[in-house]
Amino acid sequence: MNSNEIDIHRELKKYFGFSQFKGLQEQVIKSILNKENTFVIMPTGGGKSLCYQLPALVQEGTAIVVSPLIALMKNQVDAIRSLSSENGVAHVLNSSLTKTEIAQVKTDITSGLTKLLYVAPESLTKEEYVAFLQNVPISFVAIDEAHCISEWGHDFRPEYRNLKHIIKQLGNVPIIGLTATATPKVQEDILKNLDTVDATTYKASFNRPNLYYEVRTKTKNIEADIIRFIKLHKGKSGIIYCLSRKKVEAIAEVLQVNGISAVPYHAGLDAKTRAKHQDMFLMEDVDVVVATIAFGMGIDKPDVRFVIHHDIPKSLESYYQETGRAGRDGGEGHCLAYYSYKDVEKLEKFLSGKPVAEQEIGFALLQEVVAYAETSMSRRKFLLHYFGEEFDTETGEGGDMDDNVRNPKVKVEAKDQVVKLLEVVRDTKH
Ligand code: ADP
Ligand code: MG
Repeated sequence: MNSNEIDIHRELKKYFGFSQFKGLQEQVIKSILNKENTFVIMPTGGGKSLCYQLPALVQEGTAIVVSPLIALMKNQVDAIRSLSSENGVAHVLNSSLTKTEIAQVKTDITSGLTKLLYVAPESLTKEEYVAFLQNVPISFVAIDEAHCISEWGHDFRPEYRNLKHIIKQLGNVPIIGLTATATPKVQEDILKNLDTVDATTYKASFNRPNLYYEVRTKTKNIEADIIRFIKLHKGKSGIIYCLSRKKVEAIAEVLQVNGISAVPYHAGLDAKTRAKHQDMFLMEDVDVVVATIAFGMGIDKPDVRFVIHHDIPKSLESYYQETGRAGRDGGEGHCLAYYSYKDVEKLEKFLSGKPVAEQEIGFALLQEVVAYAETSMSRRKFLLHYFGEEFDTETGEGGDMDDNVRNPKVKVEAKDQVVKLLEVVRDTKH
């Protein structure tokens, strides 16, 4: 079967109950059904899973899906099973399975029942599994969170580096890479490492027109400033990111003392407390969660109205991901970052304890954050440019949604900044 013979709209309705594709899904699915190597870049929540799930369900053979987190895989397998009458339609293959369970997985794959097989990258390296998979029809291999392959990404996993080698052993199967990381550098790395530079690339826009971006100079009055900000947004949900656990605790306490309902969240709290605080935020028992970056993975609260960075993040990708948790419902989302050069120095000092390669990457990423904080050009334009996207503040959606556009600084300085930005961009490209 090729893409011309399958009515993918009908299959969309049949399996997922949706009557329309979202964004570039239709094009991506056609590309996969045409057996092309395909590269998908869509923001979080863009609907990447369906891009490989639908073609897997309607094709002969089993699709292998590589995913870095066991919890994520389990969720997806449960979701697919609920769409089908057969449990065997989707399986996870990992080290936690018993011998009997593994035998069942193999039987279901061999009989053609299993359409999606989720594997962790380290399981895929097991010779026993590779030998088995070499002898069954594979429709394609999808690599979710493909940025894990790049040291320039925010979540580098060395195991991802072996994938190309293993996939080659499976014969000539199409490779699908998917990521929400939009920087050209990471994209290049992914394609190179998967040996799929010929892949057809589908990239969605990363613009979030409803988010307002603002940077304030960090002074010793920051706590009073944050309290004032929150009181102006009374009763609304918000997240405050801090670099250290200690700061998280301190800020949460200051807020509480000032009559703001807030809870701390960081990896130093025990799992029960973390889960409790997260639920309190989701259920709106509290307005504010003060957190380290440990908070947010998979958090899908649609009406987060502000995201405050008490300390600057270590890269613009982290920043974009963290601010991206605001205004998921399309409503208001205020992204406020506090910036001081002292914080930059702190991060630099922290980096200097790392291995050299990591240091270099870390410094380069940090310089981009500094450039963003200090720029007087449109913040949205700056961010999108960083993600390889041109944005026109006159015509683009959300063009006036930042402090620099609303309150322009002196022109001469702005021109300097554009020159500086172009230099930065040139440097990162080569
Ligand atoms: P990503 O992996 O890109 O972050 P997901 O695959 O988790 O995004 O999808 C995000 C949400 O979008 C899910 O709740 C999913 O059910 C929904 N979704 C995906 N495709 C469609 C569609 N065509 N119509 C409506 N909702 C969709
Ligand atoms: Mg996803």
